[in-house]
Amino acid sequence: MNPQQKSNPRGNTYGPVPSRRLGFSLGIDIIPCKTCTFNCIYCQLGPTEKTTIQRRSYYSCSEILSQLKSILSSGQRIDYITFSGSGEPTLNSILGKLIREIKKTTTIPVAVLTNSSLISRKSVREALNAADLVVPSLDAATQDVFLLVNRPHSSLKAQKIIQGLIDFRNEFQGAIWLEVMLVKGINDTPSHIQKLMEAIAEIKPEKVQLNTVIRPPAEKFALQLSMKELERIKNIIGPNCEIIAEFVTKTQTPLSKDLGEAIFSMIRRRPITLSDVSSSLGRNPNEILKCLDSLLKENKIKQVRHKESIYYEPK
Ligand code: SF4
Repeated sequence: MNPQQKSNPRGNTYGPVPSRRLGFSLGIDIIPCKTCTFNCIYCQLGPTEKTTIQRRSYYSCSEILSQLKSILSSGQRIDYITFSGSGEPTLNSILGKLIREIKKTTTIPVAVLTNSSLISRKSVREALNAADLVVPSLDAATQDVFLLVNRPHSSLKAQKIIQGLIDFRNEFQGAIWLEVMLVKGINDTPSHIQKLMEAIAEIKPEKVQLNTVIRPPAEKFALQLSMKELERIKNIIGPNCEIIAEFVTKTQTPLSKDLGEAIFSMIRRRPITLSDVSSSLGRNPNEILKCLDSLLKENKIKQVRHKESIYYEPK
């Protein structure tokens, strides 16, 4: 372990958890919470204190691999091993090494969710090249909109990111699902959608996935589009476009007291899904997943599959 590397007291893995896009996804979080190149107005983790573009090896590779091996040996169903979590995963300089080591250990496909900010760097594209599926975001096709929606580190340029995505498309053999987070009145105007479509035509992703602001955002003015508005944009973009926004009906104020205890007391009352907990507590699903994972490890709760959903129940 080098001096920069620390153990993550909460562990670097969470799940596997059911995900609409990826089936049963085992999450790997390799970035300290809210370490990011962006400060998106819609971020469900709150504001980024200080954006950074410096790549570092935050955690020990062997420790992450040993956490992963222990989960793999449990025999649970895992459809994807997914690098995502509470910051930008390409900021971790050992991402490529980790993916290559994982590929030596298992045949389970590896996915990376990235905000695309560093994809113009060859070293980042090389790291992502080791994955089977990359889900990059592109919310802005012009610098003006980029500054409004993603509030990036001052050195980042929208056109350079788009060129990086095009270069990556030409180098990468796996699938690219491009995610676009739409914020009402900010990046959903007809002229901006037209610009996005021009970028998408050059990036040539297998899928375009539209999302909108569902969870409580960093800024109150980051407003969601309705399903009807999303449908209209989906139809403009074309047949490889789908809507992935999961609308929820109720969001309460986040709790300030112990989250694990709050979740456990909900589970004691009735079997619930991840999205039930996340929407009723108004918390980021990644945060909830980590708590659920701890409760599973403590043997307090169990997962039960019912039809298409996974429920959590007391043991
Ligand atoms: S939404 Fe993602 S990319 Fe944007 S600030 Fe939050 S963690 Fe970073």
